[in-house]
Amino acid sequence: MDRLIYLDNAATTKTAPEVVEAMLPYFTENYGNPSSVYGFAAKNKEAVTKQREEIAKVLGVLPKEIYFTAGGSEADNWALKAAAECCGAKGNHIITTKIEHHAILHTAQYLEKRGFEVTYLDVDEDGVVDLDGLRAAIRPTTILISVMFANNEIGTLQPIREIGEIAKEKGILFHTDAVQAFGQVPISADECHIDMLSASGHKLNGPKGIGFLYIRTGVKIRSFVHGGAQERKRRAGTENVPGIIGIGTAVKRAGDTMAERAKKETELRDYLIGRVLNEIPYTKLNGHPKKRLPNNANFSFRFVEGESLLIMLDMKGICASSGSACTSGSLDPSHVLLAIGLPHEIAHGSLRLTLSDETTKEEIDYVVDCLKEIVSHLREMSPLYEDFVKKNQA
Ligand SMILES: *Cc1c(COP(=O)(O)O)cnc(C)c1O
Repeated sequence: MDRLIYLDNAATTKTAPEVVEAMLPYFTENYGNPSSVYGFAAKNKEAVTKQREEIAKVLGVLPKEIYFTAGGSEADNWALKAAAECCGAKGNHIITTKIEHHAILHTAQYLEKRGFEVTYLDVDEDGVVDLDGLRAAIRPTTILISVMFANNEIGTLQPIREIGEIAKEKGILFHTDAVQAFGQVPISADECHIDMLSASGHKLNGPKGIGFLYIRTGVKIRSFVHGGAQERKRRAGTENVPGIIGIGTAVKRAGDTMAERAKKETELRDYLIGRVLNEIPYTKLNGHPKKRLPNNANFSFRFVEGESLLIMLDMKGICASSGSACTSGSLDPSHVLLAIGLPHEIAHGSLRLTLSDETTKEEIDYVVDCLKEIVSHLREMSPLYEDFVKKNQA
């Protein structure tokens, strides 16, 4: 295959060369354990502190409020499980949404088995949480609201500031899974009244296996991994120094280039959406038309099977996804597409294309040309499409 067009940046991103370069010495030269007393290792403690500061700056929080984890899933697990355990005296009710990542949904289900009650909020047809529905769901026993900042499948951005205001007014802890949004859109933890926020390195051109949980000062959350005194005794384990250098460098890079990247990607995304909707009939855009991540496009093609579409795109060198990387391999349609009200057969014909700052217009044109050809080819083989055409001609 002579070309590769990578449009699956919501699944993972390429580690930026400058990120790799910054990490390398921490494998081979500066490999000391930051907890050791001698200078050779102790300077790695400073290096870790510096990265914590870079990340805190982008989020508008204090460095000591950033706790490194082994990724977004761990941060999500920590936020939910620890909040549940620590607020048990106040109540046993948690509010989240039907469109969360499985790192939240499966953790919520785990807590339900242990006596917690969970409300999964509905979303509208664009994937936006209804604030009145949220207000109505709040009980005296509600201890935590967890709503993702941006959805990983359809890209919809949530009214996080309004949700934060409601949580604050009611004295309820507020967590947001910002794994997709952090580094792509500006986030101020203070303005949005966020108490806890999850993020991950590999979704923003950093390395895999490193992320962080922001925990606002004063929030009483138990430690997640017991052992040594790392991460202010809340998350034990020798620091992943190269990973921390990697995520810090990636976050700084994302912060410095955010506005310019968002502008470029939004233009290209809208060009892609325009071409697909205009040139491929019986196609729908999923997610909010405007309030969405700059790099996300998600379509449903009627009379088409998403898996076949992915395989045929792969043969043309195009990497895409039908739902989230985590649901592929199962035959169930995505829980997100069902939650926005798509019927099963339409949810099955969905395609997610997520751009990077390296994506070009020429690549988008090639992808749309391939899509036109593949969709019409698949439709020609579909008995449902044949029936539909006959009916329309009658
Ligand atoms: C990718 C992702 C996660 C999981 O992050 P990992 O670092 O891969 O564990 C959690 N939430 C959302 C919204 C994601 O997109």
